Amino acid sequence: MTDVLVVGAGSAGVAAAIAAAETGADTLLVEASGHVGGTLARQLLEHSAGFHDAAGNQVTGGVGQRIVALLQEYGGSPGHVPDDVAYTATRTPVNHAELSMVEAIMLQRAGVRLMLNTPVVGATVEGDRVTSVTVESPRAVLRPSTIVDASGDAVVFGHAGAALQTDTAATQPVSLTLKLGGIDYAPLLDYARVHPDDFRPGSRIGEHTEDHVNLWGFGTLLEKGFRDGRLSWRRTEMHLAGWPTRGEAVLNLTRTVAGEDSYLRLASQVMETVSWFRDYVPGGRLAYLADVADRIGVRESRRVLGVQTLTQDDVKLGRSSPTSVGQGAFPIDVHDAASAGLSHTDKPNAAYDIPYGILLAHDLRNLLAAGRCVSSTHEANGSARITATCFTTGEAAGTAAALAVRSGNTPHDLDIAALQAELRRRGVLGARS
Ligand SMILES: Cc1cc2nc3c(=O)[nH]c(=O)nc-3n(C[C@H](O)[C@H](O)[C@H](O)COP(=O)(O)OP(=O)(O)OC[C@H]3O[C@@H](n4cnc5c(N)ncnc54)[C@H](O)[C@@H]3O)c2cc1C
Repeated sequence: MTDVLVVGAGSAGVAAAIAAAETGADTLLVEASGHVGGTLARQLLEHSAGFHDAAGNQVTGGVGQRIVALLQEYGGSPGHVPDDVAYTATRTPVNHAELSMVEAIMLQRAGVRLMLNTPVVGATVEGDRVTSVTVESPRAVLRPSTIVDASGDAVVFGHAGAALQTDTAATQPVSLTLKLGGIDYAPLLDYARVHPDDFRPGSRIGEHTEDHVNLWGFGTLLEKGFRDGRLSWRRTEMHLAGWPTRGEAVLNLTRTVAGEDSYLRLASQVMETVSWFRDYVPGGRLAYLADVADRIGVRESRRVLGVQTLTQDDVKLGRSSPTSVGQGAFPIDVHDAASAGLSHTDKPNAAYDIPYGILLAHDLRNLLAAGRCVSSTHEANGSARITATCFTTGEAAGTAAALAVRSGNTPHDLDIAALQAELRRRGVLGARS
């Protein structure tokens, strides 16, 4: 009998499953793809972000920090390094494949059962409970006590007919992140040093002998590429998260509106980017496409309706909550599919508390959400979707699910003080009344 079913093996789902199993629940993690690590590992994100507030105080601990620490031990991450572009205090570069393996190792150590290539395709509800979840393939009907939906897209909520947020008109654009190899960083960084106006104010331009650099810019070269007809879409800047000593970089540049043929449009943009990079970017002549995201990067899709909803003011004002299960501090980072840059970004005054109620399904008592799809407004989600915060909401949901099973309660009826105490014991920061 499965006590806790976690759906989706991304940042939130991995943290939820580890926390649930370590809290004593028989835990099954089901994942639609063939990989552990979700968007951070397989969509080749530039880095994990959101571990510290603007002043450099750490806000994400617990499983997220343990994953980074183990990855560091294996040499797959330098840990938290300065952000370099004055956007946040730190960022956490990761080798994507090594992150995926390390998360799998941690799942095994925690005793989580894992089913890959197993999408959730249905759910049934009786009264105020989800009574079954159907997966494929082969088709099987699971009857867990409690479910954590960490699918990014609220798939269990969707199949169960649970309430979702309705302010979905302005969802963010989708992208296909790519990784280049063969970059000669000496001329590339020389260019950046000689053209500071082409980069974000306050940027630190690193050295080609360093292991990591972080650059937001190249607007002049992008504009030239667009005017010359080499890039079919206009961007005022791109994000290059580089590993100079390896000649590698992840580029976040492609962008389109979500739709049926978005992958096909993004694939053209990827190849235009590679060709443009070789011809326009100093040091790019021998660059090649080393890898491309295994999935379209969806910044925002369905968000659940919880018992509480995280709002723009909660984030911007750094609000505290008596039911806090952790903290977030990343700026509200909202991209506009129709414009060439970020549509806007709002930096919080201080870390904000994550209220427990944003994880709880509004009307189903054995269903929790974690990660990108937690109960949040469009604006608040621009902060809460960052991976460090996803680790935190995942750990909180997994711990709550396991405590509910142990005490014979539903997650809705949990003793919040006991949950907060357990989260603090686990190393989660800011879980207090
Ligand atoms: C282009 C782009 C750049 C970004 N850059 C950064 C960055 O630099 N740093 C950062 O920290 N964040 C960044 N983000 C945000 C961040 O990537 C995501 O919000 C975060 O990774 C979401 O984590 P999650 O655990 O909620 O979901 P995911 O990591 O997406 O995991 C969800 C998992 O659920 C699985 N799943 C989906 N449907 C089903 C189903 N039916 N059955 C079973 N499993 C299912 C998926 O396969 C996936 O593995 C970026 C996002 C985008 C789109």
